[in-house]
Amino acid sequence: MAEREYDIIVVGGGPGGLTAGMYGARANVKTVMIEKYMPGGQITNTHEIEDYPGFDLISGAELAMKMTEHAKRFGLEIVSDEVREVFCDGEDRLVATASGDVYRGKAVILSTGGSPNLLKVPGEMEFSGKGVSYCAICDGNFFKDQVISVVGGGDAAVEEAMFLTRFGSKVILIHRRDRLRAQKIIQERAFKNPKMEFIWDTVVESINGDTRVRSLSLKNVKNGEKSTLEVGAIFVFIGFVPNSNIVREPIRKDPNGYIITDEKMETSIKGIYACGDVRAQLVRQITNAVGDGTTAAVAAEKRIEELKG
Ligand code: NAP
Repeated sequence: MAEREYDIIVVGGGPGGLTAGMYGARANVKTVMIEKYMPGGQITNTHEIEDYPGFDLISGAELAMKMTEHAKRFGLEIVSDEVREVFCDGEDRLVATASGDVYRGKAVILSTGGSPNLLKVPGEMEFSGKGVSYCAICDGNFFKDQVISVVGGGDAAVEEAMFLTRFGSKVILIHRRDRLRAQKIIQERAFKNPKMEFIWDTVVESINGDTRVRSLSLKNVKNGEKSTLEVGAIFVFIGFVPNSNIVREPIRKDPNGYIITDEKMETSIKGIYACGDVRAQLVRQITNAVGDGTTAAVAAEKRIEELKG
C-alpha cells in the first residue's frame, strides 16, 4: 500500500482514457492511467472498425495496441489495477485502488465506459459462459456451424451478428421492435447477408438447456404468441450501463446515470473530468471518446497550471 503523486490520474484505458493520457504525458505533465484489464476498453472486443478516420479497416485489438504504444511513446505510465473510489481532499483529487494504493493528483479524468446490460431472464446467469455471451470476438469461434442467436437492435447487435455469421450455420437476430436502431449502412449490410435472419417484435423470456444452451423461450410482444427456438448460443447486445458510481462525492448525472460535463469535460466537481462512453452525450463512438479525452487533458493541464501558479 502506497501513496503516489501525479498531476493527472486517468481512470480507465479505453480510447478516451488513452488519448487523455497521451495528451497529458505529451504536455510533460506527470500522468498515469489506471486500467483493470488490458488498455483499449470495449474496442478490444470489436472485430473490425471501419469508421475511425485514417484507417479503412482495422481490428479493435490493433487500434487499441497502436493507441497504447503511441501514448507510451510520449511517456504515459500505465498501471494495471482496479479503481475502487475517487474522492477529494481540498484541491487534491485522489484515486484509491483495489490493491490498496492511493494516487494523489490535481486532476482525475474518468474514462470508465460502461458494462453490458443483462437480459435479466431465467437461465442467463446459469448458462453464462455455456452459450450465453456478451462478446462475439471472444466466444464466436465456440459455436461453429451452430445456430447462433443475437439479441438487440443497435449498432453493436447488428455488427456483432454479422461477425458471427463467419461461425454459425445461421445467425438469428431477435429484436423487441419491428425496426432496428442501428445505423442505416450497417442495417443494409445485415439485410443483404444470406446467413442473417430476423425475428421481430419478440423478447426472450428464458434461456434453456442442460450443460449448455439448447433453446430460447420467446414471446411476440404484439400478439402474445409464445414459441421455442433451438439455438446453440445467445449473444446479448442490448446497450450498457455507464460505470459512473466510483466518485465518493455527489456528481451530476443524467437520468440514465451518464456523467454530465461542461464544454471542458469537467464534471460538477472541479478537477474531475469525464470522457467517452461514461459521459452524457448524443453519440458514443471512438472518435467522440478521442475528442473528449483531448479536451479533458488540456483542461486538466490548465487547472494544474493555475493551481501551481
Ligand atoms: P444501443 O444503441 O443502446 O442499442 C441497444 C439495443 O438493445 C436497442 O435496439 C434496444 O431496443 C435493445 N434493448 C435494450 N434493452 C433491451 C432489453 N431489455 N431487451 C431487448 N432488447 C433491448 O446499444 P449498443 O448497440 O450497445 O450501442 C451503444 C453505443 O455504442 C451507441 O451509441 C452506438 O452507436 C455505439 N456503437 C457504435 C458502433 C459503430 O459505430 N460501429 C458499434 C457499436 C456501438 P430498442 O431499439 O427498442 O430501444
